Amino acid sequence: KPVIGVLALQGDVREHVAALEVAGARAVTVRRPTELAALDGLVLPGGESTTIDKLLRIFELFDPLRAAIAAGLPVYGSCAGMILLADRVLGATHDQQTLGGLDVTVRRNAFGRQVDSFESSVEMTGVPGGPVPAAFIRAPWVEQAGPGVQVLARTRHRGASVPAAPGAVPAAGAGEDAGRIVAVRQGTLLATSFHPEITGDARVHELFVAIVKE
Ligand code: GLN
Repeated sequence: KPVIGVLALQGDVREHVAALEVAGARAVTVRRPTELAALDGLVLPGGESTTIDKLLRIFELFDPLRAAIAAGLPVYGSCAGMILLADRVLGATHDQQTLGGLDVTVRRNAFGRQVDSFESSVEMTGVPGGPVPAAFIRAPWVEQAGPGVQVLARTRHRGASVPAAPGAVPAAGAGEDAGRIVAVRQGTLLATSFHPEITGDARVHELFVAIVKE
């Protein structure tokens, strides 16, 4: 079994550990630079990218992790994790630095104001068996992807997204949320805007485990 770490500084760590185990990996939590060497792959969970960024520096993981990614460590970033992997960030409150590695520009909190969290499903390249249930929670989208980046999924068209809260007022310009890039791959880096780990469907994690094994 490949050993896949879950960065455990902040965010939904337990859900990723569970999904990785279902997907056939041995999942371990990671908090120290010395733990990186034993990993075949790493998951950067959802949470708050600015908080995770701060903690990465406090735990002296920022530089070692950056170096490990540059050296080819397979990484899957979900939501805040996608932001951490992105080379460029829009919508940041300050000059937000990222680990980088993925040649994309992401926009933070991209999906409107009133309805900023919703559940939907997306057709995802590399994930057989029908649409993947996807929870979007203050999610980013990929605004621009470099030539080496494969787009794996986009949001459905207008009307297909179901607001999480019944009776919630649709965000102004909600139609602009359709057709947005929400899953990408570049070599052994995988990123999704959404959280597949809280929907009880481990197929995205299975894709990542397959990438790690390649
Ligand atoms: N909005 C968060 C951020 O900017 C991401 C939210 C999430 O990971 N669910 O980091």
